[in-house]
Amino acid sequence: MTTEETCSFCTTPENREREILRNDLVWAFPTRAPIIPGHTLICPIRCVPTFEHLMQEERDAIFEAMVSIKNSLRETFSATGFNHVWNEDVTGGQSVPHFHLHILPRTKEDELRYGYEPREFLYRPTANREVSPQQELIEVAELIKKHLR
Ligand SMILES: [Zn+2]
Repeated sequence: MTTEETCSFCTTPENREREILRNDLVWAFPTRAPIIPGHTLICPIRCVPTFEHLMQEERDAIFEAMVSIKNSLRETFSATGFNHVWNEDVTGGQSVPHFHLHILPRTKEDELRYGYEPREFLYRPTANREVSPQQELIEVAELIKKHLR
């Protein structure tokens, strides 16, 4: 069985239902268990586990998508700051073996302001986070999509 057949990003149709953007190289969607509203994941289309596996054009596409999504998050979630995170391998806290960059929109008032502990975040598995209703996530995706620049 290939990674693509077992990877939860590639095999969960709900991820496609809440796509923010998708092109030949990259796609982005709100995570099902957001740490903060607007918490978005950016992935290559190819199911590869780490940054080293990405082709240069995929790296460029991921960072281009990141800029565009951040512009939208500034508008849609009044973000004035961001956290950018990716975890690699099980030892690094990676739960899905498909490269993904987390984007967390931050505001001065958000509840993570003093509670954000990078190591806690990095090693907090999805299983320990609350899953948002799919309809709510689709609405978040639509909102972010509307303001991509
Ligand atoms: Zn995958």
